[in-house]
Amino acid sequence: MKKKLIAGNWKMNGSLAANDALLAALRAGLAAQAPGCDVAVAVPAPYLAQVQALVADTAIALAAQDVSQHEAGAYTGEASAAMLRDFGVRYTLVGHSERRQYHGESDAAVAAKAQRALAAGITPIVCVGETLAEREAGQTEAVVKRQLAAVIAQVGHCVSEIVVAYEPVWAIGTGKTATPAQAQAVHAVLRAQLAAASAQAANMRLLYGGSMNAANAAELLAQPDIDGGLIGGAALKAPDFLTIIAAAA
Ligand code: PEP
Repeated sequence: MKKKLIAGNWKMNGSLAANDALLAALRAGLAAQAPGCDVAVAVPAPYLAQVQALVADTAIALAAQDVSQHEAGAYTGEASAAMLRDFGVRYTLVGHSERRQYHGESDAAVAAKAQRALAAGITPIVCVGETLAEREAGQTEAVVKRQLAAVIAQVGHCVSEIVVAYEPVWAIGTGKTATPAQAQAVHAVLRAQLAAASAQAANMRLLYGGSMNAANAAELLAQPDIDGGLIGGAALKAPDFLTIIAAAA
């Protein structure tokens, strides 16, 4: 049976001291009770080396928050998939709504990033999701399908190796969570889209993200097509993140 995946997205938070304290608490919590799911933390790029050392020999996998769509060269400020690999990165987010919104990332750019990650042996966590205006206009399904279709077209038969995260933009960092039924409905749409592209769709992991927390995780994770969570704010508090991990076991 596929294991659920709980991935924390630290966003642009942390410091050497804060990361040390957070990971010490997570390591202690996970040593007391081995997780029944896969766990990852997506950390800011400057801390990859620090966190690589701190999660070595633990059940916590290292993730990046973004990857360049280019292989190498004159792309100031970017980090390539090969560079991430050098630091033991197992997963990278691609197409997080904050990247799409503040950095103008197009569906094509997100697809290229997913391809670069796969080529380097890194699992891309492909984020899709609609804005509130799009939901209210009845466009949720069309938007997430368009975003995912770009990635499917780019990666071809490797699609079964990606993770998809449904993150309604209106639920990210707002405290507003999609209801379990709302989230499940979109996950079912995405699963069907993946099934049309891959015989492995049933084994692929579809995460929900958007104000998932210690109180609502169990109900969301109980939905048939929700195979884990992408957690922002609650991933910065060790007790909350550990509670979510326990709920996914
Ligand atoms: C995210 O950053 O992907 C996210 C889901 O954030 P939050 O949990 O804070 O809504």
